[in-house]
Amino acid sequence: MDLLRILFLVFFTLIAFRAKSYEVTIDFKEGMYWTILPIKMYRYVLDSSMAEDLKNATEVSEDDWESNVGQDLWEFVGDVGVRSGGMLVNNIRWSDNFGNETGYDPSTTLAITIRFNNGSIFTKTEVILNGNHNNLRNNIGGMLLNTVMHELGHTIGLDHTNQYAIMAPYSNDLRALQYDDIEGGKYVYKVNASRQSSGYSEYLSNKKRGGIDQIGACGSIDITSGGDESNVSFMSSLFLGLLATFGWLLFTASFSKRKLTT
Ligand SMILES: [Zn+2]
Repeated sequence: MDLLRILFLVFFTLIAFRAKSYEVTIDFKEGMYWTILPIKMYRYVLDSSMAEDLKNATEVSEDDWESNVGQDLWEFVGDVGVRSGGMLVNNIRWSDNFGNETGYDPSTTLAITIRFNNGSIFTKTEVILNGNHNNLRNNIGGMLLNTVMHELGHTIGLDHTNQYAIMAPYSNDLRALQYDDIEGGKYVYKVNASRQSSGYSEYLSNKKRGGIDQIGACGSIDITSGGDESNVSFMSSLFLGLLATFGWLLFTASFSKRKLTT
């Protein structure tokens, strides 16, 4: 194999690596699952003026995920209530003491999702929105929708992706799910369903660990301006991949032709 061919292979491998997609959270990877879907979730705001924005963001997010994944994933119970502080039910809520409550830097973190579990079973999830972040609190540019859509992905076990998508680690200007998010959602649902039917628990059998754990999923980090090199969409990766494959085929063709004629 000559140097040019090796370089070509390296290039192609790099392109393929760039197209790497969604990830699942470590606890989901270890075998944890929801025994019942949809997840029944309660919604709370700090004062009633914030209710409309949270209502819209949760409804649009739920609809986008569920229509694209083709499954019922969350059920938002009742109207948006006014309340702060922890609670026993699955919930999405604002905190006006975000830094102290979560341990994340309130100037750079928009929200976190916590999944609680008992053994291999998810028992509760809690999405905490940063009420000390003025842009998020005032829903500047509709960023609450991007944040809620992202955090809901964490509740079912999706982790961050390196694609330009809702599940990207940094907040972005997307307001709708992308191909990578949808494929991730379908995958997580499928795996969750198979664990439900088999009672599968790799986690328990491997770790012999009981008790109640909680895993903080994310600091959905603050907006980055353009030029972030991770902002390569799946489609552009795919396009580059196809281009590379095409180039490779051409190259191989010319290579064999040369062999034949010389
Ligand atoms: Zn996140």
